[in-house]
Amino acid sequence: MPLVHFFETSVGRTTERRIVLVTVHCEGVDGWGECTAGERPFYSEESTDTAWYVLRECLAPAFIGLELDSGRDAARRMPAVRGHRMAKAALENAVWDAEAQVKQVPLWKLVGGNRKEVPAGVSIGIQDSHEQLLEQIEAEVAAGYQRIKVKVKPGWDVEVLAKIRAQFPEIMLSCDADSSYTLDHAEHLKQFDQYRLLMLEQPLWSDEIYLHSLLQYELSTSLCLDESILSARHALAAIELKACRILNVKLGRVGGFSEAIRIHDVSLAAEIPALCGGMLESGIGRSHNVALSTLNGFSLPGDVSASARYWKEDIIEPEVTVAPWGTIVVSDSVGRGYTIKEDLIERLTVRKETFRG
Ligand code: MG
Repeated sequence: MPLVHFFETSVGRTTERRIVLVTVHCEGVDGWGECTAGERPFYSEESTDTAWYVLRECLAPAFIGLELDSGRDAARRMPAVRGHRMAKAALENAVWDAEAQVKQVPLWKLVGGNRKEVPAGVSIGIQDSHEQLLEQIEAEVAAGYQRIKVKVKPGWDVEVLAKIRAQFPEIMLSCDADSSYTLDHAEHLKQFDQYRLLMLEQPLWSDEIYLHSLLQYELSTSLCLDESILSARHALAAIELKACRILNVKLGRVGGFSEAIRIHDVSLAAEIPALCGGMLESGIGRSHNVALSTLNGFSLPGDVSASARYWKEDIIEPEVTVAPWGTIVVSDSVGRGYTIKEDLIERLTVRKETFRG
């Protein structure tokens, strides 16, 4: 699926997505899940092709003919594969999606959500020029988004933040470094404090928690951890170490709804606000993010935005839209709340494999 506008972070530029989707057929319904792994292993160790391999060789065969009570049960019954959480999440979330349909309840209720509307935020990548970035922010603010997050890296940071604040003094503004700094940048990062940021996301190494606590101690800006939180255990460690004041939860990164809910529960108990992160999902992953965002602890606007920001045509209908007041109104219909455009998916499909019992 070609993106309507390239998305660039400190690790590179994405212009189109090649996405693994998983469908589970059970009790007369089809549950869908999306693997959020990138085309190349730049965000994490996983990629589209490693996910394909793990699903095909390890996960899917183990689920043929399996009797499951719930999506939660699916997480417990995964084969003993280490890591590969995005591949696991695609399968687990498909089971949750099916469970909601079998039980005739909205997915957001099944995962324990309450919110009828979720606050929408937007993440804007690194652009070719400052002017281009400011124009994009202007458009997103006009579209109603409650929070703007910009990507930063050494050389694209303080000057950019200063220009944004000069033009938009009051917006809720975050930034995300995608692990592009080290502790040697601590003095430099202190300059971020003057821009009244909601947070600085994952400034240091993608597998680091402890050193973030040293940096957090130095900064008044709240840190948010993304890449380095893979489980509820990591979330607890980060909270106890005071390594962050906000948590970014991504369904794929943590292995699916079960672990995401566990992380949510840890953060809620510790009064650490959470936000639902985004991974350039198609409508399937996007609809699952909407469901997750209805949980009480997701009190901050996340990265869940309208389909049209990313795709000329999304693979669900209706597409995810953002109301002029900056929220996504949650559907009360059964399941994920959005219909799958199977014909479109078929047209976009380049490889497919079916496992039967
Ligand atoms: Mg991030």
